[in-house]
Amino acid sequence: MNSIFTNPPALAGPYVGRFAPSPTGPLHAGSLVAAVASYLDARANGGSWLIRIEDIDEGRAVPGAAQTILEQLDWLGMHPDGEIVWQSRRKDLYQAARERLAEHVYGCGCNRREIADSRLGVGPDGAAIYPGTCRHGLAPGRAARSLRLRVPEPGQDVITFTDRFAGTVSQRLAIESGDFVLKRADGYWAYQLAVVVDDAAQGVTDVVRGADLLDSTPRQIYLQRLLGAPTPRYLHVPVVRNANGEKLSKQTGALAVQPGARGNSEGAAVAALLKAARFLGLDVAAPSTLDAFWQQAVPAWARLLAERGAPAAA
Ligand SMILES: [Zn+2]
Repeated sequence: MNSIFTNPPALAGPYVGRFAPSPTGPLHAGSLVAAVASYLDARANGGSWLIRIEDIDEGRAVPGAAQTILEQLDWLGMHPDGEIVWQSRRKDLYQAARERLAEHVYGCGCNRREIADSRLGVGPDGAAIYPGTCRHGLAPGRAARSLRLRVPEPGQDVITFTDRFAGTVSQRLAIESGDFVLKRADGYWAYQLAVVVDDAAQGVTDVVRGADLLDSTPRQIYLQRLLGAPTPRYLHVPVVRNANGEKLSKQTGALAVQPGARGNSEGAAVAALLKAARFLGLDVAAPSTLDAFWQQAVPAWARLLAERGAPAAA
C-alpha cells in the first residue's frame, strides 16, 4: 500500500458542511430531515453550508427537480453559503481521480446476468457482492463494460470509523462489498467516486446525511485514502420510514407544502420544519415564523448532540 494510504491528511480549517440531494423529485419528508440536520449542524458549529446537486446519474435525474429542491430550501429559510455545485458539470474531476487511482482500478467485462450469477451475496445496501472475476484481466474476446475499484484482501480490508450519531461502524470491504463500480456500464461515474471527489474538492469537513448511506461510508473512506483526501467527520441521522417500515420516497413522503403555495405559506414551511425537527428529537416549541424556528432549532440541535455524548465537530 502506498504512503498516501498510511498517512491520510488531517482535516484542517473551519467547519464546511453540505446537503447533496439527487434531483429525482422534490424534497419530501425524508430528505427534508437530512437537509435540516446538515443545516443545523453547520449553523450550530458556526460553519458554512453548501448545496450540491447530485445529478451524476443523468438517466435518473428528473427535469426541473433540482430547481424545485432549490426553491423549497430557499422557502424553508435554508440558504447556502456558496455557489451551487452540479455533479453533471464535473466529469473532468472524476476522470482525473480515476487516473490517480491507477492500478487500483480495472475493467470488468461481466454483464448484469453474469454478475447476478456469480455474486458472493448481497451487501447491506442491496448491491451484489462481486467475486473479482475480472480482477486479473479480461477473458479473451471480452471488452470492459464498467470500471471497478480493487478492495484489499480479506484480513486487510476492515474500515472502521466513528459516526457522531451511530457510534463505531466497521465494515469488511472484501466480504461485505467486494470490488465496487467506479464507472458504470451505462457510462456514468458511480456515486461513490463522485461524492468523494466533490467532498474533497469542496473542502467538506462534516458530512451529515441519512443512515441509508451509512453502509456506503467505508467504501468512501477507502477511496479517500487512495486519493490522499482527508476523511470528513460523519453523522448519519435515522431514516424516516412509513408504517410498513419502508424508507419514504417522493411518492410516499411528499411535503404537504410547496413553494408558491397559496395561503399561509410561512406557516406551512414552519410546520414542515417542525415535523422534521421533532423526528430528529429536537426540543422546540411551535414557533410562528421561520426565523423563530431556526433560532430555537440551532441550540436545540447542539443540546441534543451534547446529551447523546456525540463527539464534537470542528
Ligand atoms: Zn467482471
